Amino acid sequence: MDNCIFCRIVNRAIPAKIVHEDDRVLAFEDVNAQAPVHILVIPKRHLAAVQNCQDGDQALLGHLLMTCSKVAAMKNLAESGYRIVTNTGADSGQTVFHLHLHVLGGRHMAWPPG
Ligand code: AMP
Repeated sequence: MDNCIFCRIVNRAIPAKIVHEDDRVLAFEDVNAQAPVHILVIPKRHLAAVQNCQDGDQALLGHLLMTCSKVAAMKNLAESGYRIVTNTGADSGQTVFHLHLHVLGGRHMAWPPG
């Protein structure tokens, strides 16, 4: 989608600090990091949010989670721990309507989130 900022990152129309890529997903540093490690993991195919996924997207959703685990290990977070977040819709604070999983780590995370 031309007007989607994350599609534009996938297409290399705008730059990003990419940390991992395969045929289905891309992982890059969040431009406004909320933790020492803050990576976004996205599907290359445009999906707005989890609620827009269909049964046929199950494998992709699993792959996104596995990619979060891989990226976290790459960033040496496997032992210390980390948080995976996906905001969905207005109340969650979602601002970019291309499905993404935040991988946050490198500091203690409070609960409940704000
Ligand atoms: P959310 O609020 O869950 O929709 O998260 C969107 C995230 O995308 C925010 O954490 C932003 O800082 C991040 N973001 C927006 N534009 C870019 C960009 N061009 N490169 C990297 N991260 C971005």
